[in-house]
Amino acid sequence: MDKIVLRPGRERSVAKRHPWVFSGAVESAPDGIAAGETVEVVSHDGAVLGYGSWSPSSQIRARMLSFDAGTVPDEAFVASRVASAVGRRADFFANAYTNAVRLVNAESDGLPGVVADYYAGWVVCQFTSAGAEFWKRAIASALMKFAPFCRGVAERADAEVRAKEGLAVGGFSVMEGEEPPELVEISEGPCKFLVDVRNGHKTGFYLDQRDARMAVGSLANGAEVLNCFSYTGGFGIFARQCGAASVTQVDVSHDALELAKRNEALAHLCGTKMEYVEEDVFKFLRKCRDGRRQFDMIVLDPPKFAETRSQVMKAARGYKDINLLAMKLLRPNGILATFSCSGAMTDELFSKVLAEAAEDAGRDFQTIAKTRQGADHPVALSFPEGAYLKGVILRAMD
Ligand code: SAH
Repeated sequence: MDKIVLRPGRERSVAKRHPWVFSGAVESAPDGIAAGETVEVVSHDGAVLGYGSWSPSSQIRARMLSFDAGTVPDEAFVASRVASAVGRRADFFANAYTNAVRLVNAESDGLPGVVADYYAGWVVCQFTSAGAEFWKRAIASALMKFAPFCRGVAERADAEVRAKEGLAVGGFSVMEGEEPPELVEISEGPCKFLVDVRNGHKTGFYLDQRDARMAVGSLANGAEVLNCFSYTGGFGIFARQCGAASVTQVDVSHDALELAKRNEALAHLCGTKMEYVEEDVFKFLRKCRDGRRQFDMIVLDPPKFAETRSQVMKAARGYKDINLLAMKLLRPNGILATFSCSGAMTDELFSKVLAEAAEDAGRDFQTIAKTRQGADHPVALSFPEGAYLKGVILRAMD
């Protein structure tokens, strides 16, 4: 096996079980190690720190699979990582609140670059590192074996980050078992959703917002709700099933709204008035302001405004803009559920942006809850980068 040697002092983060070895930390590596190949990672003074997957074209030059000099990763090792990750989700399957669960959450489950989402028996994976790509057959076969009632395992290869790892950006393919239907129906609490596993965002659905949907639902009874950046309706459908008086779903994507309408039709209940608006949220909020339209609850769940740390100040202005507009549209005691999925946007900065928006809106707010990605999207203590999603639920005090 090839051996890579780290520069003096650069063994520290690996010793703390951080899985990333940056290119600048590598003192020497033999030429021509193939992408995804397992390498022995050694400190400057020769101590074996563990084994990682080599990624020649990425700034993250190796991702650690094992931190134990005696454990060399092989197919059985990778399969056991999958089995353990699935095992840690046993409560989700036992309590049956939902049948849509993330089974493998990449670095935080000891499988760098590997995401596997379970949708009612169908598993959809993303492999976004050279190591993940290298082991993907073994991972898919382990998922087929260990995921409960698994009917098939498929891959989505369309994530742009694959290019950074020198991997081909492609489409959808079945790896194990049967071909999933065009739309997979999942259930979550009082709701049902159709998931487009081939063309939807990520692997098809925002599983990471499950806890936030529940928090929003618990406050929605009788409310006139505005759900901004609705995608396929998640928060809005949840608010409806929890007794909202009306729900307005706003998104620029025609296809997302069409699926949101189909999701509404899956549940026959209640007199909630539903409205769908295909428009830019920034424009729509200004129209509401000019037309003096008000709401009891507003959800703001925008896409990532900051991809990198350098974009964070620009992103902060975007977050402030929509939050300020939304704060002005709330009725007295109204609720704002506001989210950021930019990892580069810290909790502190997000809170600061919200405080500035409230000041400019001339209104007082109190925080009544904070949300984060659900328990099936764990964050390893040694890998704080895994925390990206934050939510703040505010109540207007006047
Ligand atoms: N809240 C959703 C996920 C939102 S993903 C859920 O829980 O399922 C972000 C969504 O914002 C996408 O559907 C995208 O089409 C939409 N979007 C991006 N920019 C937008 C804009 N400027 N105005 C309206 N929608 C936008």
